[in-house]
Amino acid sequence: MKQSNEDEPTCLYCGQPLGYGRRDRKFCCDSCRINYNNSRRAGYYSVQTRVISTLRRNYSLLQETMDSGEDSADLGDLVQMGFNPEISTACRKLNRGLEYRCFDIRYRRSASRIFRICHTKKH
Ligand SMILES: [Zn+2]
Repeated sequence: MKQSNEDEPTCLYCGQPLGYGRRDRKFCCDSCRINYNNSRRAGYYSVQTRVISTLRRNYSLLQETMDSGEDSADLGDLVQMGFNPEISTACRKLNRGLEYRCFDIRYRRSASRIFRICHTKKH
């Protein structure tokens, strides 16, 4: 329920009006400040979790491709199996196109294929 007028600052967490006292106040109380920061952190965490699980799925699909003796695969097939070509851990420009990495696996990709899949050399 919004009962405050628009100029009155409200708590970022619970939305309660803060009164006109201090302009720099953002929260009505410490627990709202803490809850707000925790929920933001939870948001960042879930973004990271999503990306990491995508990387894990990509990695295992690349690994399975190599395990089956191939160093390339149809991109459409991989995507159907859950591969997400938008997500990689690194990307660098080579003379001819881009090389992607998913942890210690590197690969190239064209519009229709993932190819030259191999482990990066161990140092
Ligand atoms: Zn509050």
